[in-house]
Amino acid sequence: MISFGFSLNTSRTIDIDADNFDKCHSLINHVPSYKRCIGCGGCAATCSAQQHSQFNILKCNLLFRRGEYDTLSNELDKCMLCGKCLLVCPRNVNTRAMIISMRNLLKTK
Ligand code: SF4
Ligand code: SF4
Repeated sequence: MISFGFSLNTSRTIDIDADNFDKCHSLINHVPSYKRCIGCGGCAATCSAQQHSQFNILKCNLLFRRGEYDTLSNELDKCMLCGKCLLVCPRNVNTRAMIISMRNLLKTK
């Protein structure tokens, strides 16, 4: 087989109907500015933790929105809460509060 230096990701199905959005709705109540996020990725582009690890705040954000919470706790622990993302967000999302609330909500059943 010819190697092109990259490979396609294996396909996966996202069953939105099976996902549970309770925590996402709670997050909006705790941090109303979360609703303004447009997924631009500015936070991830400037993230301090991303420079030293595989941490991706945008990916965490998208998984949380989809109600896919399984792997998020470990990922969110990589955030240092430095607040750089807060400074660059064009929608003025309170990203630090968002991350702290996500961590707390993931601890609840
Ligand atoms: S920079 Fe702000 S609007 Fe853009 S993805 Fe991050 S939180 Fe959302
Ligand atoms: S607060 Fe967390 S997500 Fe935001 S820039 Fe710092 S390490 Fe990255």
